[in-house]
Amino acid sequence: MTTASSYIACQDCDALYHERRLDRGEVARCRRCGALLYRARSGGLANAVALTLTAAICFVIANAFPLLGFKLEGRVQENILLTGVLELWHAGMWSLAVLVFLASIGAPALRIAGLLYVLVPLQLGRSAPGLRAALRYLQYLRPWSMVEVYMLGLLVAIVKLSQLATIVSGTALYAFVALMLALAAADAVLEPRQLWQRLRALAPA
Ligand SMILES: [Zn+2]
Repeated sequence: MTTASSYIACQDCDALYHERRLDRGEVARCRRCGALLYRARSGGLANAVALTLTAAICFVIANAFPLLGFKLEGRVQENILLTGVLELWHAGMWSLAVLVFLASIGAPALRIAGLLYVLVPLQLGRSAPGLRAALRYLQYLRPWSMVEVYMLGLLVAIVKLSQLATIVSGTALYAFVALMLALAAADAVLEPRQLWQRLRALAPA
């Protein structure tokens, strides 16, 4: 969706409309093709800040505490989130190690930091250097943060390995689930259009 002053263009068919204020729960659809133009979300920004802060706390816990433990013949081996990446690296699968690191740790960390950098000043009505660039970079980064895919991989591993050893779920596993839910919820309440509007109101270009 492209916005320019009070006009809004349909992302699917490029029809141009005058933007108007919506009441709570209302959505604006394209008259020509029926695509969603925008929706009214009051309090979306405050909720997004709260959810992103939750995600940041969960991210720290998910990285600092044991993720999974394997109990086999009396021995318990605990692994943290980074263990898998290091194991891949030591096994000589460097490109896969880098990819797993980026998708499970690097990109989510950058994304949470970027979201906080953009959302907190906007919520407080303040400007910060490079806000526009940060907002653009967040949109590019979104597909690279694949916490959900990593979670799915973890679940498959747990089911497969549970036949060989006793699996002990660690604190980080619960934090990782909460991180996934908090990030998905922040995405659901975030309306990029609302962010750009706030940004324009702060520093008219
Ligand atoms: Zn349309």
